[in-house]
Amino acid sequence: MEIFISQAELAGMVQDLAAQVSRDYAGKRLLLVCVLKGAFVFLADLVRALTIPCEVEFVTASSYRNSTEPGKLEVLQDLSLPLEDYDVLVVDDILDSGNTLSVMLDHLQSRNPRSLALCALLDKPSRRLVPVQAKYVGKQIPDAFVVGYGLDYAQQYRHLPHIAVLNDENN
Ligand code: 5GP
Ligand code: MG
Repeated sequence: MEIFISQAELAGMVQDLAAQVSRDYAGKRLLLVCVLKGAFVFLADLVRALTIPCEVEFVTASSYRNSTEPGKLEVLQDLSLPLEDYDVLVVDDILDSGNTLSVMLDHLQSRNPRSLALCALLDKPSRRLVPVQAKYVGKQIPDAFVVGYGLDYAQQYRHLPHIAVLNDENN
């Protein structure tokens, strides 16, 4: 599999994002909400590049892919803590159709955080079906299926230190 985004480029993207987040959330009570599983590698690198304090929570979301109601989302593991005192930043691997994240953001908004925003490592704007704005994006990419750095195909490839494009000959 060809390298699409190298380890060095990813490190630079994460440093840039962490610098922006550290600047924008200085003096605030920042809670990073990591969307499992795909964002776990990104989250781990991002927190270590921040220069401000933060707390970390994890949510697991799965859209009902076969449901007749598109965009219906199952929050498999929800947050236990109240969000009223926090500036919440959702950390996800990739923004694609926007279905999953729009439902997740609505769900978190209903818990009345002080503020709510989204940080996505990758964004495929050409695939968007539901309008979702990410305050922070590492890189916009064309419509390709990518793996590595936490992103999987059938639970494989999450361990790759770079991002690769999965072609038909790989699966
Ligand atoms: P959305 O609800 O925006 O369509 O889907 C977002 C989720 O679909 C992502 O969090 C990710 O889990 C998965 N996804 C979307 N595009 C890709 C991709 O190119 N590669 C991988 N591995 N997962 C993707
Ligand atoms: Mg995801």
